[in-house]
Amino acid sequence: MDENIIKTLRDNWDEILLRHKEDFELQNVAFETFIRSLQIHSAKEGLLILSSPENESAVNLIKKKYLRNLQLSICEYTESLFEVDIISQKASKTKTSEAPLPEKKSFVSLKDEGSIKLNPNYTFEKFIVGPNNNIAHTVSLAVAESPAKKYNPLFIHGGVGLGKTHLMQAIAHSIMENMPEKKVLYVTSETFTYELIDYLRTNKRDPNFRNKYRNIDVLLIDDIQFIIGKESTQEEFFHTFNDLYQHGKQIVLTSDKPPKHMETLPERLQSRFSEGMICDIQIPSYETKRAILDQKIEDRYLQNIPDDVRDYIVNNIKSSIRELEGSINTLQAYVDLNNTEITIEAAKEALKDYVSPEHNKVITPELILSIVSEHYGITVSDILSKKKSSDITYPRQIVMYLCRQMTAESAEKIGETLGRDHSTILHGAKQINKELLSNDQLKTTIEILMNKIDPSLNNN
Ligand code: ADP
Ligand code: MG
Repeated sequence: MDENIIKTLRDNWDEILLRHKEDFELQNVAFETFIRSLQIHSAKEGLLILSSPENESAVNLIKKKYLRNLQLSICEYTESLFEVDIISQKASKTKTSEAPLPEKKSFVSLKDEGSIKLNPNYTFEKFIVGPNNNIAHTVSLAVAESPAKKYNPLFIHGGVGLGKTHLMQAIAHSIMENMPEKKVLYVTSETFTYELIDYLRTNKRDPNFRNKYRNIDVLLIDDIQFIIGKESTQEEFFHTFNDLYQHGKQIVLTSDKPPKHMETLPERLQSRFSEGMICDIQIPSYETKRAILDQKIEDRYLQNIPDDVRDYIVNNIKSSIRELEGSINTLQAYVDLNNTEITIEAAKEALKDYVSPEHNKVITPELILSIVSEHYGITVSDILSKKKSSDITYPRQIVMYLCRQMTAESAEKIGETLGRDHSTILHGAKQINKELLSNDQLKTTIEILMNKIDPSLNNN
């Protein structure tokens, strides 16, 4: 990294942090406890490392919550681009001296990344059973015990953050552990779709796709709603599905809605799904949510969260267990950083973002930026940067296109957010528009991105 930039950073560090506080409207408490104490540790090869006096778990939370925006502020101030990472001063010496570059996924790796690693916590042991999910749970256990015997295919549906992925991965974990000879493949429907489109593009000459998907014993595809609606994908999916099914292989699918509500799902697929077991996960009751919350708190070795605070969380976080977890993470940051007891007042302050989420979520260029960059495994500042490599310019144009399609902002306004003039925005959007006419993979990507940005679009 340029010497001058490092000097600018060191000379203006306090001001940079203060501006960051203002730009992102950080609360005083948050700023004083999380951000103010950050110092410049080292800078080299496009990586700026900050150090924090907090312990490692607190630093992880700081990174999760603040790093992305902080990086934006720093890059904006210096008008240059680099990754930013934070290390704990309390971490062991060896770790600090070789802080690794943040992991980066490239665009291509999306489709190479065959099956996704399972989350080690998504097991049956850690799944709390309640009236909202007990059928799905029982059936999943049965599938894990004797795959392809009783409930095949198994189709689990339910709203966001209610435990579908957890349950599906629990099946995978259990089979892999108890029947190591079985080949288990867990994929998201995005991965499946990407690979499928590639395969179709080679006019089905590439044997890898068929081999990969047909030489397995258990296929689990998560969030199947993203596959539905594209005829070519559906067709091949149907063949793959039939092939596995006829050879007595277990298939498990999840979706945000039941097959009968997927209007674009062809009849024959609907009836295939119905031959197996379709079950749902509902919103948990107070008791189930409370049990889940208690377990997650225990897993994190958090004491001192009194009953009234737990009640408050459970009563106020209504729809998703993922949010319940998010709230515990935030509380954990409080406990770690402030070293205080959690009172109901502190909890209310810490959790106000969760408890009063914006009801009508507005789609903004910022939201689009963050979803597209996450999708491509790059950072927001990559997109805002002047980098010209195609793994950045392509997502950048996609952002321009989506901002034009999904927000009411003018090209000028979008340009301001992206640090470009309005003609660049129009040009970028047009490029994507043009390419959409002939590129099926891009079409899929855009659809998936639109659904991620505005989940209400996905009500087919
Ligand atoms: P979905 O795939 O339905 O959107 P996930 O499976 O990702 O939801 O669940 C969101 C979070 O909630 C995960 O961290 C998961 O561990 C947790 N969770 C959901 N249901 C349960 C449950 N019954 N017991 C314990 N944790 C749960
Ligand atoms: Mg899921």
